[in-house]
Amino acid sequence: FNTERFGQHILKNPQVAQKIVDTANLRPTDIVLEVGPGTGNLTVRILEKAKRCVAIEMDPRMAAELTKRVQGKPEQKKLDIMIGDFVKADLPYFDVCISNTPYQISSPLVFRLLSHRPLFRCAILMFQREFALRLLARPGDDFWCRLSANVQLYATVDHIMKVDKNNFRPPPKVESSVVRIVPVDPPPPVRFEEFDGLTRLLFTRRNKTVHANFQAKNVYSMLEANWKTWCSLNNEMVDGSVDFKIKVDEVLKDTGFSEVRPAKMTIDDLLKLLHAFHELGIHFA
Ligand code: SAM
Repeated sequence: FNTERFGQHILKNPQVAQKIVDTANLRPTDIVLEVGPGTGNLTVRILEKAKRCVAIEMDPRMAAELTKRVQGKPEQKKLDIMIGDFVKADLPYFDVCISNTPYQISSPLVFRLLSHRPLFRCAILMFQREFALRLLARPGDDFWCRLSANVQLYATVDHIMKVDKNNFRPPPKVESSVVRIVPVDPPPPVRFEEFDGLTRLLFTRRNKTVHANFQAKNVYSMLEANWKTWCSLNNEMVDGSVDFKIKVDEVLKDTGFSEVRPAKMTIDDLLKLLHAFHELGIHFA
């Protein structure tokens, strides 16, 4: 195990640790999921407030330290340590997630949490500053990107505080920010793979027009392949004469998004566009 590879930067400022846990507004009935507890600076504060904490830690040495820290104390019974990789672990039921995240797994962390059912109440997560800014960006902002849209489709994100690198030991190379993620409940009735397929296409060149993005290499062959899969899944005959270029132009014209730039499109715009494509049987996954 290597500090850099596993992002082992221990939060040494107790005020910051306390503020993270306080922001979660824990209830005595809550089950908390903590990802990467390390030596337990957040864990001990979680255990003061919650009913139980399930902590997933990849490094057995860290897990051993945390075990030692609660040993013989009443909190010991409330803590369940799972040794393993969060990305591969079966997630337990949880009400709230708290994590000073190993930054390597920022993206899988967010998407695994948002696809987990039943939905959690909120997540308080520490990220590298740039990643946090992308989660928080609004349409038209510099940081508005595929990640922003994909996450904000399912959640509202707000900024809690900036955390300077000197609050960690050893200090990481980057600055950090704590954000709160609250899932939209119920989630919008759209398949993530479809929405993600569209945002991947549009945000490759987010300052070009929507129309220009559809002219990129392989877009039409991708749409055709998806359409064939879709026909076979739905037991429909594949009609060889469909011209995707004409269909796409029709949708872009009817919806009025042809000359719009993805950098300025809202989630609502993206959903409208996706819906119009679906009406004509055009799929992005
Ligand atoms: N939460 C502690 C704190 O705030 O002081 C430690 C934070 S440290 C940035 C990240 C922790 O996550 C380390 O203990 C590291 O071993 C662990 N970790 C790294 N990758 C992980 C993964 N894929 N699954 C679970 N834990 C992981």
